[in-house]
Amino acid sequence: LALKKVKGRYFMTCGEYDETMHQRLIDEQGFINDMNKALTNREFLFYLQPKYELSTSRIIGAEALVRWLHPQKGFIEPNRFIPIFEENGFIFSLDKYIWEEVCKLLRRWLDEGRPIHPISVNISRVDLYSDELVGFLDELIKKYNIPARLLELELTESAYFNNPEQIVDITQKLQKMGFIILMDDFGSGYSSLNMLKDVNVNVLKVDLKFLQNTSQNNRSGRILNAVVYMAKCLELPIIIEGVETLQQSEFLQSIGCSWVQGYYYSRPIPVKDYEKLIDQMEYL
Ligand code: C2E
Ligand code: CA
Ligand code: CA
Ligand code: CA
Repeated sequence: LALKKVKGRYFMTCGEYDETMHQRLIDEQGFINDMNKALTNREFLFYLQPKYELSTSRIIGAEALVRWLHPQKGFIEPNRFIPIFEENGFIFSLDKYIWEEVCKLLRRWLDEGRPIHPISVNISRVDLYSDELVGFLDELIKKYNIPARLLELELTESAYFNNPEQIVDITQKLQKMGFIILMDDFGSGYSSLNMLKDVNVNVLKVDLKFLQNTSQNNRSGRILNAVVYMAKCLELPIIIEGVETLQQSEFLQSIGCSWVQGYYYSRPIPVKDYEKLIDQMEYL
């Protein structure tokens, strides 16, 4: 451990975090200066990462993932700016923008009579602090006249940690309006089972990445098997993300997992490419 002074502030640094922390300090001020202009100039966009039914390899929907196409800095991945915007509160404005862009796309697909699958959007734990959240989503689907089930909502599990009652309340309200709630990053937090007991989510979303650091691979496999089994007992659909290899895909099939998402199937891709994928699938 070392104490490092940057821009008049002290930071505790330890090995691998050092570089990320350093990058973040460089990014921070620039991103904050540019964020509002970026929103008006429509520099934020989203990619779609398809979700698949494992047994048939058919696309069942997609997740919208934000990117920043910065005029000077180029293409920026969300892990660089989301934590900064969560800290200063801008994330809610950004998320509302992305949700609306997704609704516009769904509206266009409906108008064009395209085969339509749901798109899930991410809800930051910070968004949950806003009283506007539920009302905003309600107005949004009314404005674009979209069935709520087409705009799925991914809530990160770690959100439960600070405000359990609020999460229970918000999920109930949203579900009454017809929204599907996915519990994102399930198993990576400290209170997964508590959360599961209290919050009546519609889908569990488990990231393979959090299991990959366990000392024996075998052990990860057995944990995952147990999680899939638990979801079955609760009659909760489960989607496994971060699937990168054929072996992982075969293993997931063997333990009876039904839905997957990951680089092995497809990376997040521009909307146009996703539309092509859907068209190809429909003509098969
Ligand atoms: P997440 O919601 O857990 O999204 C999954 C992330 O894993 C995405 O990273 C995705 O590209 C990546 N991923 C998908 N399949 C694989 C795989 O097979 N292997 C590996 N190594 N990674 C895979 P991305 O797009 O960089 O997003 C990172 C995080 O940023 C997201 O994690 C989410 O927490 C946040 N985020 C992204 N878009 C939004 C947004 O519009 N709003 C909010 N609030 N957060 C967002
Ligand atoms: Ca997500
Ligand atoms: Ca996740
Ligand atoms: Ca995440």
